[in-house]
Amino acid sequence: MSNYKFNSAERFAVYLAHSEKCYLCTEPLDLKNMQVDHIFPESLIKDNQLLNETLSAFGLPLSFNLNSYSNWMPACAPCNRKKSSIIFKPTPIIQVVVQQAELNAKRAEALEKRTIRKKSIEKAFNLLQRASESGELSDEQKLELKPLIEYQEKVRLPEMKMEQINVTPVYKINRPSMKLRSALVEMYDGRCQVCGYQNRNTIQMCHIKPLSVGGEAQLCNLLLLCPNHHVSFDKGQFSINEDHSINGLHGRLTIVSRHDVSVDSIRWHKKYIFRHS
Ligand SMILES: [Zn+2]
Ligand SMILES: [Zn+2]
Repeated sequence: MSNYKFNSAERFAVYLAHSEKCYLCTEPLDLKNMQVDHIFPESLIKDNQLLNETLSAFGLPLSFNLNSYSNWMPACAPCNRKKSSIIFKPTPIIQVVVQQAELNAKRAEALEKRTIRKKSIEKAFNLLQRASESGELSDEQKLELKPLIEYQEKVRLPEMKMEQINVTPVYKINRPSMKLRSALVEMYDGRCQVCGYQNRNTIQMCHIKPLSVGGEAQLCNLLLLCPNHHVSFDKGQFSINEDHSINGLHGRLTIVSRHDVSVDSIRWHKKYIFRHS
């Protein structure tokens, strides 16, 4: 068990900075039950020689702070227990983990500072700490958690925006659009309709005509695109024709017969978003 007492803003920052997943088994975590693991165990603080040897083996400076975001990762309870105070060998895969922690440390720090200022979120965290693990949360409690959920929605990593929010094991929030996304992912087996890149986790749902200008949240107004083609489509670097050929890029859009793409949406995108070059 860790000696360092994490405050809720620190826990939240670790959780969000690392995609809300256990860094060891990559299973999704809920905020309440997430544990913060030290990549290099805290116990090293007491053994200076071993600490220095370990840091040197990883090519880290001796000033490396064991209690900092560079060493804190989100883990599930079983993984954290299994790992306990094992010191990793500097294998390539662990090197990647250490590097990832370092890369995300700045973002986590910034998040912590932002979060700490919000009183309503602190209240929600306290409620989360008290919330019983098995029992359903009451409607009142859910109302109290609302600021936290809205905040999480705003600050989470872009690739997580379409995923459900796991507040506790019994309280998960499905975004209304989740069903549509699942339907699209099924239709195209998680592949980008432009390039065929396949990844069920990072593939994105793209509104041909955005909701903000009256586009519909319907399959006929949606495409399944990889993050790159999503950005590029939204910027108007390419558009699609009624026969599903592509303007501005080589190739054709992959379309399954049961995906009836709206001609109105296509025309709208071509007229207002596509930038002829
Ligand atoms: Zn795990
Ligand atoms: Zn693509």
